[in-house]
Amino acid sequence: MGSGQIMKTIPGRKRIALIAHDNKKQALIDWCTKNIEVLRRHRLFGTGTTARLIGEATGLVVEGFLSGPLGGDQQIGAKIAEGLMDMMIFFCDPLTAQPHDPDVKALLRIGQVYDIPIATNQATADFLLVSPWMELPYDHWVEDFQQAHLRRILNPES
Ligand code: PGA
Repeated sequence: MGSGQIMKTIPGRKRIALIAHDNKKQALIDWCTKNIEVLRRHRLFGTGTTARLIGEATGLVVEGFLSGPLGGDQQIGAKIAEGLMDMMIFFCDPLTAQPHDPDVKALLRIGQVYDIPIATNQATADFLLVSPWMELPYDHWVEDFQQAHLRRILNPES
């Protein structure tokens, strides 16, 4: 722990964001199908098209945001910043330019800021899913942004 940090707990039942770029959508659907029993125990969210396709293919309830290029990535980023999203499975396509690349970068950055588990490819997603912390609460120290903000206001020279 460092000064200016605060203890947060990622709950046992996780709020998981599912996102796939177009060339990776089928891979994510297959991954969800393979891991349906684990995923059923958590609460699932996704960008618009990804959420709809996974729901249709697997029967899992996936709460949809807007489509990624239309703001869905930013909506998920906002949930992470609010402490309302615990984990992200994001099957990125590293071989195709994305029109919403700035949003993708912002989403990955905000996930790092709040220290949530993020998988951006299938192998990492597989590793994550067998972690004991998938079912258990996980305590971690994250930056206390409220305190940092207050300190800056009260002591602008620091
Ligand atoms: P989509 O968005 O699920 O609406 O296709 C994913 C993305 O960010 O590309």
